[in-house]
Amino acid sequence: MRLRSLLAVFAARGVSWIERHFLHAKATSMPGKIALRIDPHVLGPLAGKLKKGSIAVCGTNGKTTTNNLICKAIENSGNSVLCNRAGANMESGVVTALLFGKEADWGVMEVDELSTPLVFPALKPSYMVLLNIFRDQLDRCGEIDTVMQAIISALEKTPETVLIYNADDPFCSYIASHVKRTIPFGILEDLHLPQNRVVGGRFCMKCGTMLEYDYHQYGQLGAFHCPQCGFQRAPLAFAATQVKLSGGISFQVGDNLIHSHYSGAYMVYNLLAAFAASQTIGCDAETFQQTIDQYHPKNGRLQKFAVHGTSVVLNLAKNPTGFNQNMSLLLQDPDPKTVYFIINDHDNDGNDISWLWDVDFEWLAQEKDLVVYAGGHRMNDLQVRLKYADISAQLVKNVAEAVKLTQALPQERKLYVLTNYSALAPAQRELHALSSQE
Ligand SMILES: [Zn+2]
Repeated sequence: MRLRSLLAVFAARGVSWIERHFLHAKATSMPGKIALRIDPHVLGPLAGKLKKGSIAVCGTNGKTTTNNLICKAIENSGNSVLCNRAGANMESGVVTALLFGKEADWGVMEVDELSTPLVFPALKPSYMVLLNIFRDQLDRCGEIDTVMQAIISALEKTPETVLIYNADDPFCSYIASHVKRTIPFGILEDLHLPQNRVVGGRFCMKCGTMLEYDYHQYGQLGAFHCPQCGFQRAPLAFAATQVKLSGGISFQVGDNLIHSHYSGAYMVYNLLAAFAASQTIGCDAETFQQTIDQYHPKNGRLQKFAVHGTSVVLNLAKNPTGFNQNMSLLLQDPDPKTVYFIINDHDNDGNDISWLWDVDFEWLAQEKDLVVYAGGHRMNDLQVRLKYADISAQLVKNVAEAVKLTQALPQERKLYVLTNYSALAPAQRELHALSSQE
């Protein structure tokens, strides 16, 4: 390692030590920021610690869950792994994850899509897992075209990277058409899900003709083809069939049955992506299933709490597709329930919250016995949006109040807390504090 890189690593480790011992904070990106300030090229030498290679996980929704599952599956196969588990996915987060420990077999890194042109040339990932591309944080990420171009330019700089991608997504498929070595995965049957009002990606990225679908899952995902130029979903290397979505999820991939107590069509894609990546690098199906069985996320994604007898489910929903998936999940739940939406507009959420109008809140209006609360900095905007969906939402200032109100209702209910990005950690802290009072 060059002297400058060594100095960067040394200084960053010092910062991490201070953070841990004096601020009692987990270092997720600050040490990386310091290292990059001292040596902007420090990622390259750090990536040299990875003996077998690295996997970069990208996509608008599902990155953290998929990344952590892949990491665990590879660890359970007897490999050592360096991973940015907490989801710090900019260049500084990736650098931080690689700072500690001498060396490891694999690096498994969630990478923010717009950070790929910076991260990939240095990390040179052996594999990229690309989950989906949805509209997200318009003022930060810009249009979908910008995101796609960023990923394409990143992959052009690392021509050896094998792309494991969601072939049901026309955007991911378009990116794949620029890549030499690809492994497509997807769902080979119609899941008959409720359809979205607002769908991106309706036009062929190659020739502009409206795409046609044999079947549509959600968002722009499905068995698509362009009637004009022949752009279409590629034959699937990993195809999910016999998908069951009630009472947990299960599906078949070739001879392997994969099942989980988690629910939701989006989890089928996350598990399928993680399975494809794990199999590709040699993790067997049995180990993968054991990994799923042991997977209990503590990062606010579908995290469960019990507060004085009330079960609470916390989940992240930060864009229209994420919200729609969460809502179809709670609509599948037959138990009586309340839902508390929390919407903030910090920089990391996107200051523009006009996307709320693209969420299918109308679905909830059909649910007769549902109580809805609105919170966060933009609770008033949210309340207005819900009013247009025929839902009367009470303004509620925090999770504690939502729990109290839920418990005061005549019937026992489950509480769903769905938040966007910056509201997730405070809601999680509140729930930890409330549940520890039991
Ligand atoms: Zn076309």
